[in-house]
Amino acid sequence: MTISIRSVEKKFGRYPALDKVGLEIADGELLALLGPSGSGKTTLLRVIAGLEFPDAGQVLFHDQDVTFASAAARRVGFVFQQYALFKHMTVARNIAFGLDVRKGKDKPSKAEITKRVDDLLRLVELEGLGGRYPSQLSGGQRQRVALSRALAVQPSVLLLDEPFGALDATVRKSLRKELRRVHDATGVTTIFVTHDQEEALDLADRVAILNHGVIEQVGTPAQVHDEPVSPFVCGFVGEANRFEGEISKGRFSAGSIFLPAAGLPDGKAVGFVRPHDLVLDEAGFAVQVNRVHVQGALATVDGLTPDGRRIEVTVSRDQAEQFTGAVKLSARKAHVFPA
Ligand code: ATP
Repeated sequence: MTISIRSVEKKFGRYPALDKVGLEIADGELLALLGPSGSGKTTLLRVIAGLEFPDAGQVLFHDQDVTFASAAARRVGFVFQQYALFKHMTVARNIAFGLDVRKGKDKPSKAEITKRVDDLLRLVELEGLGGRYPSQLSGGQRQRVALSRALAVQPSVLLLDEPFGALDATVRKSLRKELRRVHDATGVTTIFVTHDQEEALDLADRVAILNHGVIEQVGTPAQVHDEPVSPFVCGFVGEANRFEGEISKGRFSAGSIFLPAAGLPDGKAVGFVRPHDLVLDEAGFAVQVNRVHVQGALATVDGLTPDGRRIEVTVSRDQAEQFTGAVKLSARKAHVFPA
C-alpha cells in the first residue's frame, strides 16, 4: 500500500500540530517518524490512521482519497505503547479478536482462525503460549501479542506508536529486530513513531524527522545522519559538536576553530562536527585533552579549546593513546548552516 500525505494541516486551538506536512510512503516500506516530544508524530500517525481528521490537505491510500474515511474502512493495524490487550481473554483470543468480531462471509471459519493464530504465534516466537492470559506474560511478550493481533486482520498498513517505549533497553533492542523480521516476512507497509533516534536509524528503511509540526527531512538513516539539511536534524540525529560562529569568505570560524564553508554567504552561522569526524592534524586547531574514556572498541576523548569550547572526539580504542595533553585537530567533514 502506497500512502501519500499532501499538505496536511492540523491545529489544536491555535497551535499547529501539523503544518503543511507532505510525505510519500512506498509500498512495503518501513518508515520511522522521529522527533522530540510534541513535534507532531502521534498526530500525523492518527491522521494516517483515520483517528484524527486534518483541517486541510489530503491522505491517499494507493491513490484513493481516504482523508475522511474511518479507521475501519482504511484497514489499519495498530500497536500502541500501552499494551491494550484484553485482560480477560487468552493470548489466542486476543490475537483472534479482529477476526472473531467479523460478520457473515467476511468471518473466517474457526479452523482458519485457529491456523492464523498459530501462524502468528510462530511468527513472533510465542508458540505454545496461546492459552495464557496477558497478566502471565512479560512486557515484551505482551507487545509481541499486540503486534500479532494487529497483523491478524491482514491490515493494509501497520501503525505503531512508541510500541517499545515502556520496555527496558535490552528488550527494546530485541523487539525492534523482531519487528524488522516480521515486517520483512509480511511485507506490510509500516509506520513507526519514536523519539529514540537509535531505534529509528536501526530499524527503518527511511526516517521522517519532525520538528514543531514540520517535516524537516526524509531520508535513509545514512542520509539523515550524513547529509542533514538543517541545524535541527544535525543536532537531533547522531552526536555532534556544535559551534556558534560566523562565515567569512567561505570559511567558518568559532574562536580558534575553523571549518570549511565553501559557497555559503558571509554572516552568523552554526557549525557541527560529528565526534568521529575529528582527526589529529598538525595544521589543525589546538585542543587540550582532559579525559579519555573507553567504551568497548571505541574511545571518547573530552577536550577544550584555548577559548574554552568543549570538544568531543570518538576514536578507535588503539588510536586513543595518541590523545594526551595538547593535540591539534581538524574536521574531515563538517556541516555549516547560516543562522
Ligand atoms: P510525544 O512524543 O510527546 O508523544 P508527539 O511528537 O507525538 O509527542 P503530538 O502528540 O502529535 O506530538 O502532539 C503535537 C502537539 O499537539 C503537542 O503540542 C500537543 O500538546 C498537541 N496536541 C496533541 N493532541 C492534542 C489534543 N487532542 N488537544 C490539544 N492539543 C493536542
